Amino acid sequence: MGNKSYALVSKMRDPSVRMALANALKDDGRLSYDEILMIVASTYDWGIVTWHEFNDLKTILNEAKTIDQRSKNYINNFLNKLYHDYLANQSKKKAFTLPYTKDHIPKTTNNSRRPGYAMTPQYLTIHSTANPKSYATGERKWLTNPTNNRTASFHLVVDEKEAIECLPLNEVAWHAGDGGKGTGNRKSIGMEICESGDRQKTLENAISLAAKILKDHSWDTTKLKRHYDWTQKICPRILIDSGQRDKQTQTWEWFTKQVATLL
Ligand SMILES: [Zn+2]
Repeated sequence: MGNKSYALVSKMRDPSVRMALANALKDDGRLSYDEILMIVASTYDWGIVTWHEFNDLKTILNEAKTIDQRSKNYINNFLNKLYHDYLANQSKKKAFTLPYTKDHIPKTTNNSRRPGYAMTPQYLTIHSTANPKSYATGERKWLTNPTNNRTASFHLVVDEKEAIECLPLNEVAWHAGDGGKGTGNRKSIGMEICESGDRQKTLENAISLAAKILKDHSWDTTKLKRHYDWTQKICPRILIDSGQRDKQTQTWEWFTKQVATLL
C-alpha cells in the first residue's frame, strides 16, 4: 500500500498523527499500540467521519502491520464502533424530528423588533444567548415582554427540547449588531442557541436545526456564519470561547462539520 495516498492523512491536524499514519502506509511500516490510540483520539477530535474517510481509515488500520494481538483487537473494536457511529448518523440524517413551533411576534412589537422589512436571506447566523438559565419559550416571551426596551430580535431559538420560530424567515430581525444596513442584519437568518439545560442535547438540536435551514434554502455550510463574523463579538460563546465550552472539542469548526454530515 506504499504508493497510495489518502486525503485523511493530510487532514489530521496533529503532525505526530500524520507521521504515524504515513509510517503505517510504508511497506515495512508498523503501528505501535500508542500510535493507534493517538490516531483514534485524533479522529474523534474532528467529529464523525464521512463514509469515504471511514473507508480510508479502515484500509490503513487493517493493512498496517501491528505489533501484537492487543493492537489488532483494538483496531477491530474501533472500526466496529466507527461503523456504528456512521450508521447511526446516516439514520439521523433522514428526518428532522425536533419539535418546531411558529410563534411570530406581532409587527406592532415595541422597539421595532419586527420591522416587517422583506428579506431574501443569504446566510444563517449562529448566536448563543449568553444566558445560562433561559429556555426557548422564555427567550420568545422576552421578545414581547413590555419591560424589554432593546431593539434586538432573532428568527429562531433552540434549546434542549424544541425550536421556536419567532419571526418569519423572510423578514428582517435585529441580531447581528452590524447596523440598519448591515449584511448580517439585512441578509441573514438569526438563530439563538440556549445555554441552559443539557448542553449536548441542545447542541445536537442546534446542529439539526441549522442543517434543516441550510437544506430548506439549498445552501452548503459556507452560508453558516457566527455573530463574530459580522462584528467580532464573542458569539456564539459556547462554541468560540474556551471558557464557555462544555467540551473543548466542540469548536465552531466542529459545529460546522456536524452540520455538514446532515446535509
Ligand atoms: Zn450573538
